[in-house]
Amino acid sequence: MAEKSFKYVIIGGGVAAGYAAREFAKQGVKPGELAIISKEAVAPYERPALSKAYLFPEGTARLPGFHVCVGSGGERLLPEWYTEKGISLILSTEIVKADLASKTLISAAGETFKYQILIIATGSTVIQLTDFGVKGADAKNIFYLREIDDADKLVGAIKAKKGGKAVIVGGGYIGLELSAALRINNIDVSMVYPEPWCMPRLFTAGIAAFYESYYTNKGVSIIKGTVAVGFGTNENGEVTDVKLKDGRVLEADIVVVGVGGRPLTTLFKGQVEEEKGGIKTDSFFKTSIPDVYAVGDVATFPLKLFNEIRRVEHVDHARKSAEQAVKNLFLVALEQLGDSLEELSCLYLKTNSRGILQAIFASEQGTSIDEYDYLPYFYSRAFDLSWQFYGDNVGETVLFGDNSPTSPTHKFGTYWIKDGKVVGVFLESGTPEENKAIAKVARVQPPVDSLEQLATEGLAFASKI
Ligand code: FAD
Repeated sequence: MAEKSFKYVIIGGGVAAGYAAREFAKQGVKPGELAIISKEAVAPYERPALSKAYLFPEGTARLPGFHVCVGSGGERLLPEWYTEKGISLILSTEIVKADLASKTLISAAGETFKYQILIIATGSTVIQLTDFGVKGADAKNIFYLREIDDADKLVGAIKAKKGGKAVIVGGGYIGLELSAALRINNIDVSMVYPEPWCMPRLFTAGIAAFYESYYTNKGVSIIKGTVAVGFGTNENGEVTDVKLKDGRVLEADIVVVGVGGRPLTTLFKGQVEEEKGGIKTDSFFKTSIPDVYAVGDVATFPLKLFNEIRRVEHVDHARKSAEQAVKNLFLVALEQLGDSLEELSCLYLKTNSRGILQAIFASEQGTSIDEYDYLPYFYSRAFDLSWQFYGDNVGETVLFGDNSPTSPTHKFGTYWIKDGKVVGVFLESGTPEENKAIAKVARVQPPVDSLEQLATEGLAFASKI
Protein backbone atom coordinates (compact mmCIF):
# COMPACT_ATOMS: atom_id res chain seq x y z
CA MET A 1 0.00 0.00 0.00
CA ALA A 2 1.30 3.49 -0.88
CA GLU A 3 2.87 5.55 1.84
CA LYS A 4 1.56 9.06 2.52
CA SER A 5 3.76 11.77 3.89
CA PHE A 6 2.85 15.05 5.60
CA LYS A 7 4.72 17.82 7.33
CA TYR A 8 2.20 17.81 10.18
CA VAL A 9 -0.08 14.98 11.31
CA ILE A 10 -2.72 15.14 14.04
CA ILE A 11 -3.85 11.72 15.33
CA GLY A 12 -7.44 12.06 16.44
CA GLY A 13 -10.26 14.09 14.91
CA GLY A 14 -12.01 15.45 17.99
CA VAL A 15 -12.27 18.84 19.64
CA ALA A 16 -8.54 19.48 19.99
CA ALA A 17 -7.88 18.44 16.37
CA GLY A 18 -10.55 20.83 15.06
CA TYR A 19 -9.28 23.82 17.03
CA ALA A 20 -5.70 22.93 16.05
CA ALA A 21 -6.75 22.91 12.37
CA ARG A 22 -8.22 26.40 12.71
CA GLU A 23 -4.99 27.64 14.30
CA PHE A 24 -2.89 25.96 11.57
CA ALA A 25 -4.94 27.87 9.00
CA LYS A 26 -4.48 31.15 10.91
CA GLN A 27 -0.73 30.54 11.02
CA GLY A 28 -0.66 30.05 7.25
CA VAL A 29 -0.26 26.27 6.85
CA LYS A 30 0.25 25.46 3.18
CA PRO A 31 -2.02 23.12 1.19
CA GLY A 32 -0.87 19.51 1.52
CA GLU A 33 1.13 20.08 4.70
CA LEU A 34 -1.41 18.99 7.33
CA ALA A 35 -3.39 15.77 7.78
CA ILE A 36 -5.90 14.87 10.48
CA ILE A 37 -6.33 11.13 10.91
CA SER A 38 -9.50 10.15 12.75
CA LYS A 39 -11.21 6.92 13.70
CA GLU A 40 -14.54 8.73 13.45
CA ALA A 41 -16.35 9.12 10.13
CA VAL A 42 -17.11 12.83 10.51
CA ALA A 43 -15.13 16.08 10.67
CA PRO A 44 -14.26 17.41 14.16
CA TYR A 45 -17.30 18.45 16.19
CA GLU A 46 -18.14 19.84 19.61
CA ARG A 47 -18.31 16.58 21.61
CA PRO A 48 -20.31 17.98 24.59
CA ALA A 49 -23.40 18.23 22.33
CA LEU A 50 -23.65 14.42 22.33
CA SER A 51 -24.96 14.27 25.90
CA LYS A 52 -27.18 17.33 25.51
CA ALA A 53 -29.15 18.58 22.48
CA TYR A 54 -28.18 15.54 20.35
CA LEU A 55 -30.53 13.47 22.51
CA PHE A 56 -33.39 15.97 22.86
CA PRO A 57 -36.77 15.22 21.22
CA GLU A 58 -37.11 18.90 20.24
CA GLY A 59 -34.48 21.42 19.23
CA THR A 60 -32.33 18.41 18.35
CA ALA A 61 -28.71 19.09 17.37
CA ARG A 62 -27.41 17.23 14.30
CA LEU A 63 -24.31 17.58 12.18
CA PRO A 64 -23.32 19.73 10.39
CA GLY A 65 -24.83 22.06 13.05
CA PHE A 66 -22.19 21.52 15.73
CA HIS A 67 -18.89 21.10 13.95
CA VAL A 68 -16.08 22.98 15.67
CA CYS A 69 -15.62 25.86 16.39
CA VAL A 70 -19.26 26.82 17.15
CA GLY A 71 -18.98 25.77 20.79
CA SER A 72 -16.81 28.79 21.56
CA GLY A 73 -18.72 31.14 19.29
CA GLY A 74 -16.31 30.69 16.38
CA GLU A 75 -16.56 29.83 12.69
CA ARG A 76 -18.12 26.42 11.89
CA LEU A 77 -15.56 24.29 10.07
CA LEU A 78 -17.52 22.19 7.60
CA PRO A 79 -15.77 19.36 5.69
CA GLU A 80 -15.45 21.76 2.72
CA TRP A 81 -13.39 24.15 4.84
CA TYR A 82 -10.66 21.50 5.19
CA THR A 83 -10.71 20.90 1.44
CA GLU A 84 -10.42 24.64 0.73
CA LYS A 85 -7.44 24.93 3.05
CA GLY A 86 -5.75 21.86 1.56
CA ILE A 87 -5.95 20.02 4.90
CA SER A 88 -6.35 16.26 4.44
CA LEU A 89 -9.15 14.93 6.58
CA ILE A 90 -8.49 11.20 6.68
CA LEU A 91 -11.63 9.80 8.31
CA SER A 92 -12.75 6.30 9.41
CA THR A 93 -9.07 5.50 9.84
CA GLU A 94 -7.78 4.09 13.09
CA ILE A 95 -4.07 4.26 13.78
CA VAL A 96 -3.05 0.96 15.36
CA LYS A 97 0.71 1.43 15.50
CA ALA A 98 2.81 4.51 16.11
CA ASP A 99 6.58 4.41 15.90
CA LEU A 100 7.84 7.75 17.16
CA ALA A 101 11.49 6.90 16.41
CA SER A 102 10.89 6.44 12.66
CA LYS A 103 8.01 9.00 12.59
CA THR A 104 5.64 6.42 11.15
CA LEU A 105 1.98 5.62 11.78
CA ILE A 106 0.17 2.51 10.56
CA SER A 107 -3.61 2.29 10.19
CA ALA A 108 -5.87 -0.71 10.83
CA ALA A 109 -6.19 -1.09 7.03
CA GLY A 110 -2.38 -1.22 6.71
CA GLU A 111 -1.75 2.29 5.32
CA THR A 112 1.51 3.98 6.30
CA PHE A 113 1.68 7.67 7.20
CA LYS A 114 4.94 9.57 7.70
CA TYR A 115 5.19 12.93 9.44
CA GLN A 116 7.76 15.52 10.45
CA ILE A 117 5.76 16.86 13.38
CA LEU A 118 3.07 14.90 15.23
CA ILE A 119 0.24 16.16 17.44
CA ILE A 120 -1.34 13.47 19.61
CA ALA A 121 -5.02 14.31 20.15
CA THR A 122 -6.53 10.88 20.76
CA GLY A 123 -8.72 12.00 23.69
CA SER A 124 -10.23 9.48 26.07
CA THR A 125 -12.17 6.26 25.94
CA VAL A 126 -14.89 5.07 28.30
CA ILE A 127 -14.36 2.56 31.07
CA GLN A 128 -16.68 -0.37 30.33
CA LEU A 129 -18.34 -2.71 32.82
CA THR A 130 -17.16 -5.64 30.69
CA ASP A 131 -13.60 -4.60 31.72
CA PHE A 132 -14.51 -5.75 35.25
CA GLY A 133 -16.31 -8.91 34.13
CA VAL A 134 -19.75 -7.69 35.30
CA LYS A 135 -22.19 -10.47 34.39
CA GLY A 136 -24.41 -9.66 31.39
CA ALA A 137 -22.57 -6.37 30.73
CA ASP A 138 -22.30 -7.23 27.01
CA ALA A 139 -26.11 -7.33 26.59
CA LYS A 140 -27.82 -5.33 23.84
CA ASN A 141 -29.13 -1.86 24.80
CA ILE A 142 -26.35 -1.21 27.31
CA PHE A 143 -24.78 2.01 26.06
CA TYR A 144 -21.70 4.14 26.62
CA LEU A 145 -21.28 7.62 25.21
CA ARG A 146 -18.07 8.94 23.70
CA GLU A 147 -18.44 9.22 19.94
CA ILE A 148 -21.21 10.15 17.54
CA ASP A 149 -21.81 6.47 16.64
CA ASP A 150 -22.54 5.76 20.31
CA ALA A 151 -25.01 8.65 20.40
CA ASP A 152 -26.75 7.42 17.23
CA LYS A 153 -27.23 3.96 18.76
CA LEU A 154 -28.69 5.51 21.90
CA VAL A 155 -31.05 7.71 19.86
CA GLY A 156 -32.22 4.54 18.05
CA ALA A 157 -32.94 2.82 21.38
CA ILE A 158 -34.80 5.86 22.77
CA LYS A 159 -37.09 5.71 19.73
CA ALA A 160 -37.50 1.93 19.89
CA LYS A 161 -38.23 1.84 23.63
CA LYS A 162 -40.65 4.81 23.78
CA GLY A 163 -42.04 5.27 27.28
CA GLY A 164 -39.78 2.49 28.57
CA LYS A 165 -37.46 2.26 31.54
CA ALA A 166 -33.83 3.31 31.71
CA VAL A 167 -31.19 2.80 34.35
CA ILE A 168 -28.24 5.18 34.38
CA VAL A 169 -25.16 3.70 36.02
CA GLY A 170 -22.89 6.44 37.41
CA GLY A 171 -23.52 9.79 39.07
CA GLY A 172 -20.95 11.97 37.30
CA TYR A 173 -21.64 14.57 34.62
CA ILE A 174 -22.50 11.94 31.99
CA GLY A 175 -24.93 10.31 34.45
CA LEU A 176 -26.57 13.63 35.32
CA GLU A 177 -26.84 14.88 31.73
CA LEU A 178 -28.06 11.53 30.40
CA SER A 179 -30.67 11.10 33.14
CA ALA A 180 -32.08 14.50 32.23
CA ALA A 181 -31.99 13.83 28.46
CA LEU A 182 -33.80 10.48 28.82
CA ARG A 183 -36.36 11.96 31.20
CA ILE A 184 -37.08 14.72 28.67
CA ASN A 185 -37.75 11.87 26.21
CA ASN A 186 -40.44 10.61 28.60
CA ILE A 187 -38.48 7.62 29.71
CA ASP A 188 -38.77 6.37 33.28
CA VAL A 189 -35.26 6.96 34.68
CA SER A 190 -33.39 5.54 37.68
CA MET A 191 -29.86 6.65 38.48
CA VAL A 192 -27.52 4.41 40.48
CA TYR A 193 -24.18 5.35 42.01
CA PRO A 194 -22.08 4.16 44.95
CA GLU A 195 -21.08 7.54 46.40
CA PRO A 196 -23.07 9.40 49.08
CA TRP A 197 -23.91 12.17 46.56
CA CYS A 198 -23.69 12.90 42.84
CA MET A 199 -20.58 14.38 41.11
CA PRO A 200 -18.47 13.87 44.24
CA ARG A 201 -15.28 14.83 42.39
CA LEU A 202 -16.55 18.41 42.17
CA PHE A 203 -19.80 18.87 44.10
CA THR A 204 -19.93 19.38 47.85
CA ALA A 205 -22.79 17.68 49.72
CA GLY A 206 -24.54 21.08 49.73
CA ILE A 207 -24.34 21.53 45.95
CA ALA A 208 -25.36 17.92 45.28
CA ALA A 209 -28.41 18.17 47.56
CA PHE A 210 -29.92 20.78 45.21
CA TYR A 211 -29.44 18.65 42.06
CA GLU A 212 -30.62 15.43 43.70
CA SER A 213 -33.86 17.08 44.87
CA TYR A 214 -34.33 18.83 41.53
CA TYR A 215 -33.91 15.54 39.65
CA THR A 216 -36.23 13.73 42.05
CA ASN A 217 -38.87 16.42 41.45
CA LYS A 218 -38.46 15.82 37.70
CA GLY A 219 -39.27 12.14 38.28
CA VAL A 220 -35.75 10.65 38.30
CA SER A 221 -35.37 7.96 40.94
CA ILE A 222 -31.98 8.24 42.65
CA ILE A 223 -30.43 5.16 44.23
CA LYS A 224 -27.20 5.85 46.12
CA GLY A 225 -24.64 3.76 47.95
CA THR A 226 -24.76 0.71 45.71
CA VAL A 227 -23.49 -0.52 42.32
CA ALA A 228 -24.67 -2.61 39.39
CA VAL A 229 -23.29 -6.13 39.73
CA GLY A 230 -25.10 -7.89 36.88
CA PHE A 231 -27.64 -7.58 34.07
CA GLY A 232 -30.52 -9.88 33.08
CA THR A 233 -31.26 -10.46 29.39
CA ASN A 234 -34.12 -11.83 27.27
CA GLU A 235 -33.95 -14.39 24.46
CA ASN A 236 -32.80 -11.67 22.01
CA GLY A 237 -29.87 -10.81 24.21
CA GLU A 238 -31.41 -7.45 25.19
CA VAL A 239 -31.02 -6.14 28.71
CA THR A 240 -34.12 -6.61 30.90
CA ASP A 241 -32.92 -5.70 34.37
CA VAL A 242 -30.05 -4.42 36.47
CA LYS A 243 -29.03 -6.33 39.57
CA LEU A 244 -27.69 -4.14 42.36
CA LYS A 245 -25.19 -5.12 45.03
CA ASP A 246 -27.72 -4.37 47.77
CA GLY A 247 -30.01 -7.08 46.31
CA ARG A 248 -32.47 -4.81 44.52
CA VAL A 249 -33.34 -5.53 40.88
CA LEU A 250 -34.38 -2.66 38.56
CA GLU A 251 -36.27 -3.32 35.34
CA ALA A 252 -34.53 -1.76 32.32
CA ASP A 253 -35.09 -1.47 28.56
CA ILE A 254 -32.07 0.82 28.24
CA VAL A 255 -28.96 1.10 30.38
CA VAL A 256 -26.46 3.93 30.03
CA VAL A 257 -23.14 3.54 31.78
CA GLY A 258 -21.07 6.61 32.66
CA VAL A 259 -18.44 5.43 35.10
CA GLY A 260 -15.46 7.39 33.84
CA GLY A 261 -12.88 7.43 31.12
CA ARG A 262 -9.19 6.95 30.56
CA PRO A 263 -6.86 8.78 28.17
CA LEU A 264 -5.95 6.94 24.98
CA THR A 265 -2.18 6.73 25.31
CA THR A 266 -1.62 3.00 24.62
CA LEU A 267 -0.19 3.58 21.13
CA PHE A 268 2.70 5.53 22.63
CA LYS A 269 3.45 3.42 25.74
CA GLY A 270 7.17 3.12 26.42
CA GLN A 271 8.02 5.66 23.70
CA VAL A 272 7.19 8.90 25.47
CA GLU A 273 7.31 10.07 29.09
CA GLU A 274 4.01 9.75 30.94
CA GLU A 275 2.76 11.20 34.21
CA LYS A 276 -0.53 11.11 36.11
CA GLY A 277 -1.97 8.76 33.48
CA GLY A 278 -1.30 11.09 30.56
CA ILE A 279 1.51 12.09 28.21
CA LYS A 280 3.79 14.54 29.99
CA THR A 281 4.23 17.89 28.25
CA ASP A 282 5.70 21.30 28.94
CA SER A 283 3.72 24.56 28.84
CA PHE A 284 3.80 24.48 25.04
CA PHE A 285 2.48 20.87 24.90
CA LYS A 286 5.82 19.50 23.70
CA THR A 287 6.35 15.93 24.89
CA SER A 288 9.64 14.31 25.90
CA ILE A 289 10.18 13.35 22.23
CA PRO A 290 11.29 16.07 19.76
CA ASP A 291 8.63 17.05 17.22
CA VAL A 292 5.85 15.31 19.14
CA TYR A 293 3.12 17.32 20.87
CA ALA A 294 0.18 16.07 22.97
CA VAL A 295 -3.00 18.12 23.54
CA GLY A 296 -6.47 17.82 25.04
CA ASP A 297 -7.48 14.95 27.32
CA VAL A 298 -4.20 13.02 26.86
CA ALA A 299 -1.82 15.78 28.00
CA THR A 300 -0.45 16.09 31.54
CA PHE A 301 0.76 19.68 31.58
CA PRO A 302 2.02 22.34 34.02
CA LEU A 303 -0.96 24.16 35.52
CA LYS A 304 0.84 27.41 36.28
CA LEU A 305 -1.89 28.90 38.46
CA PHE A 306 -1.64 26.07 40.99
CA ASN A 307 2.03 25.26 40.43
CA GLU A 308 1.19 21.63 39.71
CA ILE A 309 1.08 19.30 36.78
CA ARG A 310 -2.35 18.01 35.84
CA ARG A 311 -4.43 16.32 33.20
CA VAL A 312 -7.76 17.99 32.41
CA GLU A 313 -10.62 16.24 30.60
CA HIS A 314 -12.68 19.23 29.54
CA VAL A 315 -13.55 20.84 26.28
CA ASP A 316 -12.22 24.33 27.05
CA HIS A 317 -8.74 22.95 27.73
CA ALA A 318 -8.89 20.77 24.59
CA ARG A 319 -9.50 23.91 22.53
CA LYS A 320 -6.90 26.10 24.22
CA SER A 321 -4.13 23.49 24.47
CA ALA A 322 -4.47 22.74 20.75
CA GLU A 323 -4.13 26.42 19.86
CA GLN A 324 -1.13 26.81 22.17
CA ALA A 325 0.67 23.81 20.64
CA VAL A 326 0.13 24.99 17.06
CA LYS A 327 1.24 28.57 17.82
CA ASN A 328 4.36 27.18 19.42
CA LEU A 329 5.29 24.81 16.64
CA PHE A 330 5.10 27.63 14.11
CA LEU A 331 7.30 29.79 16.27
CA VAL A 332 9.82 26.98 16.71
CA ALA A 333 9.89 26.46 12.94
CA LEU A 334 10.56 30.16 12.46
CA GLU A 335 13.33 30.15 15.05
CA GLN A 336 14.94 27.32 13.13
CA LEU A 337 14.75 29.43 9.98
CA GLY A 338 16.70 32.16 11.76
CA ASP A 339 14.85 34.85 13.60
CA SER A 340 16.50 37.99 12.37
CA LEU A 341 13.92 40.69 11.88
CA GLU A 342 14.97 41.15 8.30
CA GLU A 343 14.49 37.48 7.41
CA LEU A 344 11.15 37.37 9.20
CA SER A 345 9.93 40.51 7.45
CA CYS A 346 10.83 39.05 4.03
CA LEU A 347 8.99 35.86 4.95
CA TYR A 348 5.94 37.80 6.09
CA LEU A 349 5.80 39.68 2.79
CA LYS A 350 5.93 36.35 0.92
CA THR A 351 3.43 34.39 3.04
CA ASN A 352 1.25 36.94 4.82
CA SER A 353 1.21 34.50 7.76
CA ARG A 354 -0.11 35.67 11.12
CA GLY A 355 2.41 33.37 12.81
CA ILE A 356 5.27 35.24 11.18
CA LEU A 357 3.74 38.54 12.21
CA GLN A 358 3.62 37.24 15.78
CA ALA A 359 7.24 36.14 15.50
CA ILE A 360 8.26 39.61 14.30
CA PHE A 361 6.42 41.07 17.27
CA ALA A 362 8.00 38.54 19.63
CA SER A 363 11.44 39.19 18.20
CA GLU A 364 11.00 42.96 18.68
CA GLN A 365 9.87 42.41 22.26
CA GLY A 366 12.62 39.89 22.89
CA THR A 367 10.03 37.31 23.98
CA SER A 368 8.43 34.17 22.60
CA ILE A 369 4.86 33.02 23.16
CA ASP A 370 3.59 32.95 26.72
CA GLU A 371 3.55 29.79 28.79
CA TYR A 372 0.13 28.13 29.01
CA ASP A 373 -1.64 29.72 31.96
CA TYR A 374 -4.89 27.82 32.19
CA LEU A 375 -7.74 28.59 34.53
CA PRO A 376 -9.67 25.30 34.93
CA TYR A 377 -13.24 25.78 33.70
CA PHE A 378 -16.00 23.14 33.71
CA TYR A 379 -19.65 23.49 32.89
CA SER A 380 -22.74 21.39 32.46
CA ARG A 381 -26.33 21.86 31.37
CA ALA A 382 -29.31 19.62 32.13
CA PHE A 383 -33.07 20.26 32.21
CA ASP A 384 -33.26 24.06 32.55
CA LEU A 385 -30.20 24.13 34.79
CA SER A 386 -26.76 25.37 33.88
CA TRP A 387 -23.66 25.62 36.05
CA GLN A 388 -20.12 26.81 35.67
CA PHE A 389 -17.06 26.21 37.81
CA TYR A 390 -13.68 27.94 37.70
CA GLY A 391 -10.48 27.25 39.61
CA ASP A 392 -9.75 24.51 42.11
CA ASN A 393 -12.12 22.67 44.44
CA VAL A 394 -9.85 22.36 47.46
CA GLY A 395 -10.00 23.76 51.00
CA GLU A 396 -12.96 25.02 53.00
CA THR A 397 -16.28 25.77 51.32
CA VAL A 398 -18.93 28.44 51.64
CA LEU A 399 -22.38 27.88 50.14
CA PHE A 400 -24.35 30.99 49.19
CA GLY A 401 -27.57 32.04 47.50
CA ASP A 402 -31.01 30.54 46.96
CA ASN A 403 -30.49 26.78 46.68
CA SER A 404 -34.05 25.67 47.14
CA PRO A 405 -34.78 23.16 44.34
CA THR A 406 -38.40 24.32 44.20
CA SER A 407 -37.64 28.04 44.12
CA PRO A 408 -38.46 29.61 40.74
CA THR A 409 -35.57 32.05 41.27
CA HIS A 410 -32.94 29.54 42.40
CA LYS A 411 -29.40 30.83 41.99
CA PHE A 412 -26.66 29.61 44.25
CA GLY A 413 -22.99 28.88 44.40
CA THR A 414 -20.01 27.83 46.44
CA TYR A 415 -16.61 29.35 47.10
CA TRP A 416 -13.56 27.19 47.89
CA ILE A 417 -11.06 28.88 50.21
CA LYS A 418 -7.49 27.72 50.75
CA ASP A 419 -4.75 29.51 52.71
CA GLY A 420 -7.11 32.46 53.24
CA LYS A 421 -7.77 32.97 49.52
CA VAL A 422 -10.65 32.07 47.22
CA VAL A 423 -9.32 29.40 44.82
CA GLY A 424 -12.51 28.08 43.21
CA VAL A 425 -16.08 29.21 42.51
CA PHE A 426 -19.18 27.31 41.40
CA LEU A 427 -22.36 29.03 40.23
CA GLU A 428 -25.74 27.61 39.16
CA SER A 429 -27.94 29.73 36.86
CA GLY A 430 -25.47 32.61 36.53
CA THR A 431 -25.92 35.30 33.90
CA PRO A 432 -23.02 35.78 31.45
CA GLU A 433 -21.79 38.76 33.54
CA GLU A 434 -21.99 36.76 36.77
CA ASN A 435 -20.10 33.86 35.21
CA LYS A 436 -17.44 36.32 34.06
CA ALA A 437 -17.23 37.65 37.60
CA ILE A 438 -16.70 34.21 39.16
CA ALA A 439 -14.03 33.40 36.55
CA LYS A 440 -12.23 36.59 37.53
CA VAL A 441 -12.39 35.71 41.22
CA ALA A 442 -10.90 32.27 40.58
CA ARG A 443 -8.09 33.87 38.57
CA VAL A 444 -7.38 36.75 40.99
CA GLN A 445 -7.72 34.61 44.17
CA PRO A 446 -8.71 37.46 46.50
CA PRO A 447 -8.11 37.11 50.27
CA VAL A 448 -11.04 36.32 52.55
CA ASP A 449 -11.24 37.65 56.11
CA SER A 450 -14.39 35.96 57.29
CA LEU A 451 -16.20 32.93 55.89
CA GLU A 452 -19.46 34.12 57.52
CA GLN A 453 -19.19 37.45 55.72
CA LEU A 454 -18.44 35.68 52.43
CA ALA A 455 -21.58 33.57 52.87
CA THR A 456 -23.65 36.70 53.52
CA GLU A 457 -22.17 38.63 50.61
CA GLY A 458 -22.49 35.67 48.24
CA LEU A 459 -22.34 36.65 44.59
CA ALA A 460 -21.85 40.34 45.52
CA PHE A 461 -18.32 39.41 46.68
CA ALA A 462 -17.47 38.15 43.16
CA SER A 463 -19.13 41.09 41.42
CA LYS A 464 -16.94 43.66 43.18
CA ILE A 465 -13.58 41.99 42.31
P1 FAD B 1 -11.79 13.93 21.70
O1 FAD B 1 -12.68 15.07 21.43
O2 FAD B 1 -12.35 12.75 22.42
O3 FAD B 1 -11.20 13.45 20.31
C1 FAD B 1 -10.38 12.32 20.19
C2 FAD B 1 -10.48 11.81 18.78
O4 FAD B 1 -9.42 10.91 18.53
C3 FAD B 1 -11.77 11.06 18.46
O5 FAD B 1 -12.24 11.48 17.22
C4 FAD B 1 -11.29 9.60 18.38
O6 FAD B 1 -12.08 8.80 17.54
C5 FAD B 1 -9.91 9.79 17.80
N1 FAD B 1 -8.99 8.68 18.01
C6 FAD B 1 -8.66 8.10 19.18
N2 FAD B 1 -7.73 7.13 18.98
C7 FAD B 1 -7.49 7.11 17.65
C8 FAD B 1 -6.63 6.33 16.82
N3 FAD B 1 -5.86 5.38 17.33
N4 FAD B 1 -6.64 6.56 15.49
C9 FAD B 1 -7.42 7.55 14.96
N5 FAD B 1 -8.25 8.32 15.71
C10 FAD B 1 -8.27 8.11 17.04
N6 FAD B 1 -16.40 18.75 28.63
C11 FAD B 1 -16.83 19.91 29.17
O7 FAD B 1 -16.01 20.73 29.56
N7 FAD B 1 -18.18 20.19 29.28
C12 FAD B 1 -19.12 19.31 28.86
O8 FAD B 1 -20.32 19.58 28.97
C13 FAD B 1 -18.69 18.07 28.29
N8 FAD B 1 -19.60 17.17 27.83
C14 FAD B 1 -19.16 15.99 27.31
C15 FAD B 1 -20.11 15.07 26.86
C16 FAD B 1 -19.69 13.85 26.33
C17 FAD B 1 -20.71 12.88 25.85
C18 FAD B 1 -18.30 13.54 26.26
C19 FAD B 1 -17.86 12.22 25.71
C20 FAD B 1 -17.37 14.46 26.70
C21 FAD B 1 -17.78 15.69 27.22
N9 FAD B 1 -16.86 16.63 27.68
C22 FAD B 1 -17.29 17.82 28.21
C23 FAD B 1 -15.41 16.37 27.59
C24 FAD B 1 -14.83 16.94 26.31
O9 FAD B 1 -15.67 16.64 25.24
C25 FAD B 1 -13.43 16.38 26.09
O10 FAD B 1 -12.61 16.82 27.16
C26 FAD B 1 -12.85 16.83 24.75
O11 FAD B 1 -13.61 16.33 23.68
C27 FAD B 1 -11.41 16.36 24.62
O12 FAD B 1 -10.93 16.69 23.35
P2 FAD B 1 -9.82 15.79 22.63
O13 FAD B 1 -9.63 16.35 21.28
O14 FAD B 1 -8.68 15.63 23.56
O15 FAD B 1 -10.50 14.36 22.52
